[in-house]
Amino acid sequence: MRMYDVIEKKKMGHILTKEEIQYMVEGFTDGSIPDYQVAALLMAIYFQGMNKEETLELTLCMARSGDMLDLSEIEGIKVDKHSTGGVGDKTSLVLAPMVAAVGVPVAKMSGRGLGHTGGTIDKLEAFEGFSTAISEEQFIKNVNSIKIAIAGQTANLAPADKKLYALRDVTATVDNISLIAGSIMSKKIASGADAIVLDVKTGSGAFMREEKDAINLAKTMCDIGNGYGRHTVAVVSDMNQPLGLAVGNTLEVIEAINTLRGEGPDDLHELCLQLGTQMVLLAKVAETEEEARAMLEETITSGSALKKLREFVEAQGGEGKYVDQPELFEKANIIEPVKAPKAGYIDHIETEEIGFATMVLGGGRETKESVIDLAVGYVFEKKLGDYVNEGDTIAIIHANDEAKRQESQERFLKAISITEAVADKPALIKGMIK
Ligand code: URA
Repeated sequence: MRMYDVIEKKKMGHILTKEEIQYMVEGFTDGSIPDYQVAALLMAIYFQGMNKEETLELTLCMARSGDMLDLSEIEGIKVDKHSTGGVGDKTSLVLAPMVAAVGVPVAKMSGRGLGHTGGTIDKLEAFEGFSTAISEEQFIKNVNSIKIAIAGQTANLAPADKKLYALRDVTATVDNISLIAGSIMSKKIASGADAIVLDVKTGSGAFMREEKDAINLAKTMCDIGNGYGRHTVAVVSDMNQPLGLAVGNTLEVIEAINTLRGEGPDDLHELCLQLGTQMVLLAKVAETEEEARAMLEETITSGSALKKLREFVEAQGGEGKYVDQPELFEKANIIEPVKAPKAGYIDHIETEEIGFATMVLGGGRETKESVIDLAVGYVFEKKLGDYVNEGDTIAIIHANDEAKRQESQERFLKAISITEAVADKPALIKGMIK
């Protein structure tokens, strides 16, 4: 087989065989096929697309290029949850203890934040001593005994995807639905879960700005998961504003704890119930949506989910006292209101910019090596559709450096649009793909 012929075939819009896809992925991973030929193929894929079978094959080849985790020693149906990323997205911190408290085994691989979006591992590290660098043996032991463990991604999870993503990133071929879906699902499949719940975000803070693209991505990912025999469902949810009120690592952990106490913002609470319901159903712990939702609500009213969070934090070396006393978390030095420059309705939030404004404070990573300041960020008091008078507080900024505060706050205010006309509040759930 020659790579030249594979490129030519896709350029002309033909369907690649399994063998051709395997040849490309294996050759690229072992270095026998050069970057420039793979870059040419990626561009041909970008313009000509791939059908369901090609997309599934590409995903499986990438998944099999490294370790395929074997979670068979964990009892029960393991359901993973994945979010395509957003601003203020702390659902895993709330959801994982909720579903674990009803008996769904949570065996999760999580990532760190990069760019305008945060990552679950960074947030969990707000708990002093907490570590996601646990051995496979410990990981399995924890899930079997307390139903929950979260580990960092191993270096060898879908290495072909890592290499392909780096090439896509510099050849303007990231934004293709098949390539994105394959990239995400290759890591999910290699992570070994039996079933997967996807939270596909759409809006001004999401990878997929347009709802139709998010729905298309969600369907493509479900086709891949189900095509491989891993029951996969997707919820398409709004990211036209941050989820909940807090943006920034420790601030989001505090909000997650408040949500587990039944005192969280409505959108975060509702999204966790929606995603959790699907997880509980896939794990076959409940038979109907009503039953699953009631079980999850009970974990909040009874306090069992909060207790589970504490158990989980302590099992991975963290200080559990923060769960009961979140006021003990280290605070930023500068805590000030950000005031509305004029009166009116908030009709648009450029959510990605809110993520970048948090990054300016030191709360996000510009490069993989950046060290982040866990205490900084924003806590919103007003969101889309709310009316503000001039001088009303839109959010509270938490900063540790005056120059950064100024720069961040300017960026924050530019991201908020206020008009005289009454503005709508966006619907939280945009679609469900089962
Ligand atoms: N996230 C991924 O993991 N891969 C993509 O291609 C896009 C977003």
